[in-house]
Amino acid sequence: MGGLLYLKSMSLNFFTFRKEDITCLKCGWKGKGAELSYGDFSEEHAICDMDCPACGEHVGFWQAPLTDELERWKKANPGAETGW
Ligand SMILES: [Zn+2]
Repeated sequence: MGGLLYLKSMSLNFFTFRKEDITCLKCGWKGKGAELSYGDFSEEHAICDMDCPACGEHVGFWQAPLTDELERWKKANPGAETGW
């Protein structure tokens, strides 16, 4: 897994990307983040790749938040739609 990949790809907001509009730069697919295919997951870095469901192009990644980050975000965004 190369670091360069992450400089080129989109950093997705773990909390909200499922509800966001995503466009694949390779094939032009448009949809919600929830429709993306799961790619590789790095347990070491808690980073999950998300791929385009149409062409398989890597479109972004998210990093799983720490437990306290999760709690902080929930407090700061009460009732926020996450699509979970
Ligand atoms: Zn695509």
